[in-house]
Amino acid sequence: MTLKLFNSGSTIKEAFRPLRKNVASLYVCGVTPYDTTHLGHAFTYTVFDTLGRYLMHKGFGVVYTQNVTDIDDDILRRSKKEGRDWRELGDFWTRRFLDDMKSINVMRPTHYVKATASMPRIIRMVGRLLEKGFAYRSGNNVYFDVKKFPRYGSLSHFNTRQMEMLLRERGGNPLDANKRNPLDFILWQGWTEGEPYWNTPWGRGRPGWHIECSAMANEYLGDRIDIHGGGRDLIFPHHESEIAQSESYTGKRPFSRFFMHTAMVMYMGEKMSKSLGNLVLVSHLIKTHTPNAIRWLLLSHHYRQVWEYDEQGFDEAEHFSEMIGRLHVGRNTVDGSADESYMSEFEQAMDDDLNTPQALRMFGALLDNGKDDATARRIARILGFIV
Ligand SMILES: [Zn+2]
Repeated sequence: MTLKLFNSGSTIKEAFRPLRKNVASLYVCGVTPYDTTHLGHAFTYTVFDTLGRYLMHKGFGVVYTQNVTDIDDDILRRSKKEGRDWRELGDFWTRRFLDDMKSINVMRPTHYVKATASMPRIIRMVGRLLEKGFAYRSGNNVYFDVKKFPRYGSLSHFNTRQMEMLLRERGGNPLDANKRNPLDFILWQGWTEGEPYWNTPWGRGRPGWHIECSAMANEYLGDRIDIHGGGRDLIFPHHESEIAQSESYTGKRPFSRFFMHTAMVMYMGEKMSKSLGNLVLVSHLIKTHTPNAIRWLLLSHHYRQVWEYDEQGFDEAEHFSEMIGRLHVGRNTVDGSADESYMSEFEQAMDDDLNTPQALRMFGALLDNGKDDATARRIARILGFIV
């Protein structure tokens, strides 16, 4: 069976075939480490962790890069507010994030990279974009000239007016007088007194957020990648801008064969977010629930479906967590004698755009009937449960 994944760009499910034979490259936008990890983050990273594990089960090698946005406006704002060094603040929250992820058995990506560690590649890309005429200097900044990239908007499918509206909402500053076009975005931000800076031929300053991800994807995975992932709210302007920068820099397309986006997690009727304060923290949940129960709860929702967190969802999740916990005793069959009909039913669900709710229904029935622990153990491991 072929794995099919929904591609945000084409808006259809497409068969997954990697660029390089048998090796899948995956880039997922990571956190900006200035605050705590909530269930929305856990959902996204658990989904891509499960995708990585499933790709390995399908026989692919997986090279997974995830970044840490360790230099950006949010970090500097918070560092100023707390009177704490921005590096120390970033390191602190990065460690907390990694601990949270480890607590729910999310594997470390192959490359876990700080933006500040990719500075030479970032500067090289901005320089090349200037040389090629895709970027321009204005004020102390360097901007990407969206007019030079007619495909801008092809991932989000938004028209210019919608993009401008969203940019206003998302802090993209369309009214910046230094821009030629309201949709142009910052590649390099000129230095402001008191802020950290890096030296470049066009002056000291720091990178824009979008170029950081393009540079890290390029440095660690190459000019073109198989799958780029992240939360749905990153489609515009972040991923749209990454495509424009990367394809203009390399002259190759598509930058990413697939774009996959996870749905938002709601709580108390609103999107779970720092600004609204309606957060459910992984570090709190782990005190009262097992890692397997948290993972079960997350995977019981399809990654493209918006869902609302509800403590009652743990009733079922805890039941199955307990059943998984009993698997190590090995009651019935021994490893190796797995029933292939269960496996093919499981793979059918997963091959269909990672239909984890369907896979869990089947897995739950297998656990409840207790007749084939070998297959149950195998499936548990593929889904990232601790067995
Ligand atoms: Zn990113």
